[in-house]
Amino acid sequence: MFPAPFDYHRPGSLDETLVLLAQYGGDARVLAGGQSLIPAMRFRLARPAVLVDINQLDELAYVREADGMLAIGALARDAALERSSLIESSYPLLFDTSAVVADPVVRQMGTVVGSLCHNDPSGDWSVTALASRAQIVVRGSTGTRVVPIDEFLVDSFSTAVAEGEIALEVRFPSPPPRTSGSYQKIERKVGDFATSAAAAQITLGDDGTVAQIGIAIGAAGPTATRVADAESALRGIKPTKDAIRAAADAARKIADPVADPRGSVEFKKDMAGVLVGRALLAAFERLGVGGLR
Ligand SMILES: Cc1cc2nc3c(=O)[nH]c(=O)nc-3n(C[C@H](O)[C@H](O)[C@H](O)COP(=O)(O)OP(=O)(O)OC[C@H]3O[C@@H](n4cnc5c(N)ncnc54)[C@H](O)[C@@H]3O)c2cc1C
Repeated sequence: MFPAPFDYHRPGSLDETLVLLAQYGGDARVLAGGQSLIPAMRFRLARPAVLVDINQLDELAYVREADGMLAIGALARDAALERSSLIESSYPLLFDTSAVVADPVVRQMGTVVGSLCHNDPSGDWSVTALASRAQIVVRGSTGTRVVPIDEFLVDSFSTAVAEGEIALEVRFPSPPPRTSGSYQKIERKVGDFATSAAAAQITLGDDGTVAQIGIAIGAAGPTATRVADAESALRGIKPTKDAIRAAADAARKIADPVADPRGSVEFKKDMAGVLVGRALLAAFERLGVGGLR
C-alpha cells in the first residue's frame, strides 16, 4: 500500500524544526530513521498530515559522555552504538542491546531515541532504558524538560513527548565502578521483535552486596516493565541462587503478555522469568561473581 498524502519538511536547524512542530502541532510527526514510521504509514496505521524529517540535523548524531552521563542524540543510529568502543568497553547492557535490535540493515537507519519515542511493547531499547534508569531530554518551543524513563513510557505507542515537542537525546547514567549488565532476548529468527526480553544492570558495593540494580522485561505488557519487587529484594544483599530464582518468579508474576504468533501467554510469562534469571546471572558473572547457577 502507499501512504496517505502528507506534506514533507526537511528543516536545516533545530530552531526551524521547533517552529515547524509548533506550527503543525498534532498534525506533525518527526521522521528519524523511518524504520517504524514509514512501514506504519504504508499500512495506513499512521496518517500524519505533515512529516518533519530531522535527518539533516547532523548535530544530533552524537554518542558522548559528559557530566556523569552517556548522551545519545536523536540522530544516533543503532549501528553507531554497535560499533562504538566506548559502548563496548563501558556499557555492556547497551552493547548487548545494540547487537540484537532488528537486523543490521534496520540498525543502519533506526535510532535509539526513535525507538523510545515509538514505544513498541516489544521494542528493545525501552527495556534497557528502564533497567539503566535513563532520562530523555524533550524540547518544545517553550523550553526543555528532562523526563525519567519510568514517566516517559506512558502506554503502547505513547510517550511523554507532547504535541510540538521533539525528544533531543536519551541519557544513561555512566556506570560507577563494579557495574555490569546484560540484555537477553529470544526471537523467532534474526531481525524479529522479541518474543520475550529482559535487561539487568547491577552495581556492587565494596562488600560485595548489591548497591544498585535495575531489572526490566519486554514483550510482557503494554510497555517495557520494571520488575520493582525483584530490584528491592536484591538491593543490599549478596546474590544467591535462591535470590535469583525469586527475582525470576517476580518477573513471571508481573509479566502481562499477549498471545500472538510468537507464543502463548503462559510461554511468554515463563520466558520473562527465564530471561530475568539469565540476565542477572550474566551480569553477576561479568562482575566476577560465580557459583550462582
Ligand atoms: C524489519 C524490522 C524489524 C525490526 N525489529 C525490531 C526489533 O527487533 N526490536 C526493536 O526494538 N525494534 C525493531 N524494529 C524497529 C526499529 O528498531 C526502529 O528503528 C525504531 O523502532 C524506530 O526508530 P527510527 O529512528 O526508525 O524512528 P522512526 O520510524 O523515524 O519514528 C518512530 C516514531 O517515533 C517518533 N520519533 C522518532 N524520533 C523522534 C524524536 N527525536 N522526537 C520525537 N518523536 C520521534 C516518530 O514520529 C514516530 O512516531 C524493527 C523495524 C523493522 C523495519
